[in-house]
Amino acid sequence: MIPEGVKTPLVIVISGPGGAGKGTIARKLCEKDPTITVSRSWTTRAPRTDDKNDSYFFVNDYEFNEHKDNGGFIEWNEFLGFMYGTPMPDQDDEKDLILEIDVSGGRQICQKLPQAILVFIDVEDSELRRRLAGRGDKQSEIDKRLLEAERERKEAKELNYQIVLNDDLTKATKEIYEIICRARL
Ligand code: ADP
Ligand code: 5GP
Repeated sequence: MIPEGVKTPLVIVISGPGGAGKGTIARKLCEKDPTITVSRSWTTRAPRTDDKNDSYFFVNDYEFNEHKDNGGFIEWNEFLGFMYGTPMPDQDDEKDLILEIDVSGGRQICQKLPQAILVFIDVEDSELRRRLAGRGDKQSEIDKRLLEAERERKEAKELNYQIVLNDDLTKATKEIYEIICRARL
């Protein structure tokens, strides 16, 4: 039982379509405020050229399933044919934790941690197409991600995600930082 008045770290779920800017904004928030950190997910998808060194732990199906069966993930989901999972957070870490995960993962998190903050970063489809093409995604991949984006927008509304438009990186980062600061009060 946590004594009254003692603040526990926040969990901030950041979801949104591929190319919306989740990773970019999460990195900016950590640079801006060293008491924020980003969880590093496990995935079975192959690394992309635009992945940063610490974007994911890239594993095979066997490794993923073994970790899952051992209760190593707080949430996991299949997304466009690959597995993604958030490792159990370190209970001793006092930093506020960003989970950059899809909306189904966000649903699992808010069932387990109802106090989690849910933020959905969005961008117009035409701009999403431009950003995904810019990072080298194939046309068929872009189409699949846009369809998935439409499904996620609906699910995010049902879950009362706070929606932030990332048409301007500085503005969107500031808006999300303000959401975090309000939650800290
Ligand atoms: P996600 O993590 O949601 O897939 P990224 O953070 O990898 O998206 O961003 C996808 C691309 O869009 C990157 O090239 C990034 O630099 C660019 N980007 C992010 N935010 C903006 C913005 N507001 N305007 C223009 N380009 C952006
Ligand atoms: P990408 O392949 O673009 O890196 O990620 C595809 C989708 O999987 C994105 O919506 C991303 O947020 C989500 N994702 C990344 N890591 C996790 C995770 O650990 N759990 C869940 N549920 N989704 C994740």
